[in-house]
Formats: sequence, structure tokens, C-alpha cells
Amino acid sequence: MRAVAFYRPHARLVVEEFELEEPRAGEALVEMVGAGACHSDFHHVDGHVTPPVTPFVMGHEGAGVVREVGPGVRGVAPGDHVVFSIDLMCGHCRNCTLGSPTLCLTYERTATMPDGTTRFRKDGAPFLHGPATFSEWTVVHEDRLVKIRGDVPLEKACLIGCGVVAGVGAVVNRARVEPGSTVAVFGCGGVGLNVIQGAVLASASVIIAVDRVGFKLEKAEEMGATHVVDAGREDAVRRIGEITGGGADYAFEVVGFPSIVRQAFESVRPGGTAVMVGVPPTGSEVSVDAGELMMSRSLIGAFHGAARARVDFPWLADMYAAGRLKLDELITRYRPLEEINEAFEDMNRGVTARTVLTFV
Ligand SMILES: [Zn+2]
Ligand SMILES: [Zn+2]
Repeated sequence: MRAVAFYRPHARLVVEEFELEEPRAGEALVEMVGAGACHSDFHHVDGHVTPPVTPFVMGHEGAGVVREVGPGVRGVAPGDHVVFSIDLMCGHCRNCTLGSPTLCLTYERTATMPDGTTRFRKDGAPFLHGPATFSEWTVVHEDRLVKIRGDVPLEKACLIGCGVVAGVGAVVNRARVEPGSTVAVFGCGGVGLNVIQGAVLASASVIIAVDRVGFKLEKAEEMGATHVVDAGREDAVRRIGEITGGGADYAFEVVGFPSIVRQAFESVRPGGTAVMVGVPPTGSEVSVDAGELMMSRSLIGAFHGAARARVDFPWLADMYAAGRLKLDELITRYRPLEEINEAFEDMNRGVTARTVLTFV
């Protein structure tokens, strides 16, 4: 069985042979159908984020079919179509109960199964892994899987679990953008395009997309942006002020740099809200003008779209089936697992929105 292994930053990812153990209690064996090459994975490759342990099997965005379950599994059954959640959700801790399962208190973020062991082996020795969606098969705890309807193609539905919910959820779950609002979006990559899509679903009146890459600004318009600003050519904060007449109601930072979080904050009106969606460099800090903060501006984070995966994933699948959520437009191309490096190269050259790895 083949999977993508990460060994160290600034090195090419390698596809290697692994052995996979049977699912134990509470776990499921999933045959993967599609896995999105997400920027968060690449953050390890370019050193933007330092993984606590290496090496490990990569991938967190994915969808597939449950083929076998371990003892005691109640949430999924063989044959179910499932989308992977980035976060394990116990469903009964305080945060899960309050509706914030991305902040589940039961599970730690580790590159192992919740019990500290691994199901992947290489040459007989245990090999670290998270959800390991960049693999032909994987074993995960059922608390990471969300069953969706069977008629949405899984090579498209895989995006729901990270890129789509991170963007749409930041708008509807976290910021709770009201109809008629003005919204600015800094960064129009895989997640940023979904912030735009979320703003459309929330009936925002003005949606301003900011990026430096022409292809991404074109995609932003396709997703529903009403205005585009090329940050390489004009001052985005000033332009947003002009378009909105004094600042946006909401501005989303979807790049992961403190300097752009600051720009997002500076582009909201007094009383407005800036939302940090991007993944910041490890150990970085954000500073903003205290006087502007005092003017009832808010600066908030939106971790994984504040997703309620068991509610949001089926909803998003329904929205796609009803023609109200764009997934096809987000996928620029499909590639086999072996072309993971090329998928990230395309992403960095700004010629793809998302590449989905397939397993046929
Ligand atoms: Zn992701
Ligand atoms: Zn929990």
C-alpha cells in the first residue's frame, strides 16, 4: 500500500510502501477516493510551521468509503461515504457540548492514534501518522469521520473537510456575517475562495477579494467576489476604504502572515471585525494600533472554520447537491498520489486553486 511520507522540510515528499494494521476498537478502515493537497500540508514542507515529530504520513483533507470497522464503532459502517474532519471530536466534553468540536478537550493533537499507537508500519516498524489521507488506505478513529450522502462524488466532497469548511465556517459559524454586510478577503487560495463563497451564502452585499496573483483574482470573481484588488499594484487597505466608504464590516486574513492580519484589521470600520483564518508562522506575534482597537474593532481567530463537522459537512454536501455550493470550480486538476510534489509546485506558482489526489 502506497502513501506520502514527510521526512524533513525543504525536501521532496516521497511515496513509499507501508503496511496497515486492522482497525482496533472505535476505529475504521477507509479506502481513500480523494485527498486535497492543502496549503497546511505544504506549511511543513516550506518550514512555515514546524511539525513536533517526524517522519510521518501526510494528509488531512480527504474522503473515502468505510470498508471495515473495529469493535464498538457506532457512528459509521462499512459502505458509508465519509469526509475526514481535521479535528477529532469526542462529542461529550465541555467544548464539544457547547458546539465547538474543533476545540475538543478530550483529544490531543498527535501524529498517532488517540491511544498513542500507530496503524501504519514501514518495514515492520511503527510509522507516525495523523489522518493520513495521502494514502491508498488509512485507519482512523471514528471520531474523525463524518458520514455524508452517497450521491456526492467523493473526489469532490473531500474538500468539504478542510478548505471549504475552514472558509465557509469562518464566515457563517465564527464571524456570523449578517446579510448586507461588506466583506474583504485577503488571500484567495483554497481557503480564501471559500471565505468568498461563505460571504455569498451569507448574502454579503460587497465582497472584495485581495491577492497578488491574477489567476486567483479571476477565481475569486468566479466564486462571487464583487470587487478585486491586486495588492501588488495598489494599497489594499485604502482601496477597501474607498469601496466600502470607510472600512469593511468584516475582513478575513487567509494567508497566515502577521503583517496581513494587521492590514485586515486596518481595513475594517470602527465596530468592524477582522478574522484571522490563515495559519501563522510558528512563534509569530500580531500587533495592532491600540487606538483603533479601542474603537470597538474586534480581532478574532477562526480555527478550522469553528466547524461543527457533524452538522456542517452534511449541510455542505446538501448545498452542493442543490447547486448552491461550488466544489467543481475549486478543483483545477486531479493527479495521482505520485504527483504530490507537482501538486504543491502548481499551488505555489499560483496556477491551481486546489489539486485533488486520486487513488485509481
Ligand atoms: Zn487543510
Ligand atoms: Zn470533545
